[in-house]
Amino acid sequence: MVRGKSLLIFLIVAVFVVFSGCSKSNNIPADSGRETQQFQEGNEESDTKQGNQVKGESAQEDVDLAQIKANEAGKVMILMYHVIGSDKEGDWSQTSENFRRDLQMLYDQGYSLISLNDFLANNITAPAGKTPLVLTFDDGTEGHFRYLVDGKGNKEIDPDCAVGILLNFAQEHPEFGHTATFYVNSAPFRQKDYFREKLNKLVELGFDIGNHTLTHEYLNKVSDDKVQKELGGLAKYVADNVPEYQVTTLALPFGLSPKNYSLAVKGSYNDFTYEHKGILKVGARPALSPIREDFDPYRLPRVKASTEELGKWLEYFKNHPEERYISDGNPNKIAVPHDKEQLVDKSKMKDKELVSW
Ligand SMILES: [Zn+2]
Repeated sequence: MVRGKSLLIFLIVAVFVVFSGCSKSNNIPADSGRETQQFQEGNEESDTKQGNQVKGESAQEDVDLAQIKANEAGKVMILMYHVIGSDKEGDWSQTSENFRRDLQMLYDQGYSLISLNDFLANNITAPAGKTPLVLTFDDGTEGHFRYLVDGKGNKEIDPDCAVGILLNFAQEHPEFGHTATFYVNSAPFRQKDYFREKLNKLVELGFDIGNHTLTHEYLNKVSDDKVQKELGGLAKYVADNVPEYQVTTLALPFGLSPKNYSLAVKGSYNDFTYEHKGILKVGARPALSPIREDFDPYRLPRVKASTEELGKWLEYFKNHPEERYISDGNPNKIAVPHDKEQLVDKSKMKDKELVSW
């Protein structure tokens, strides 16, 4: 028995050493304080990972849908951030401190990050009982992704930029995840020596890059050719810089649409064809579930992540819990309360199973 326990402790420590080795290669800022903290939390994390794995493989049938109030026809917030790391809080700018606070608040209220691509594909991987949440960042400003570089050229990700904050938060709360889409123009993230390197690093770290046009153009005011130059130009810029990666979503600058809307979806520029599976607007409410009949991937509303707007919608879902998307933890099953079953578009089910409670 004692031998068995020692072996278990050895295995847990071994698993932790492997995991911490992985995270170092991510250039996550690591001072000695952090590492101590990681080590203290190591055993707990390993247990969680093990627990999730067991649940994912064999215990999904045990989820009590009525108890967790699974509602996969509910609404999902796609949060829209602009400036991160501002000196003061505003409608379009958040301090680093407040961005951390947002993540903590969302985590505490049962939200779990999923990628926009997974949302569009109706591949909702949020754990059972959690509400999926999508993060988006517009304009590719430096506060989204900054390298701190010392005199010798050594660099690390600024722990106060959005990428640094997300990675550190996810290290402490692995089940929350850190996925997000960064909508860039030309000169992504501003530090000119690192345009290409940062785009590649983002993808390597599991983030997504989205189209926000080459020059943040007013798409409602320009010709069809110019629309395609702006959208195709940016998509090509990313494809040229990040091998094997394709931009699949667009955030409309200022929320303004081209006169010929089909060109926001698909077009070509200089023999380069772009195609978006999802198009994001600027305002002003949570999105519908992708399983609903009235879900429109080409006109996705977002929630502005200002203190006021985010606070308003979090409060809204507290007061209207029946409208909130609650995952059953199994992407291959769509679980809804009986009275929401008619909202589900059966033609979108493919090989998924519909269950109601
Ligand atoms: Zn913008």
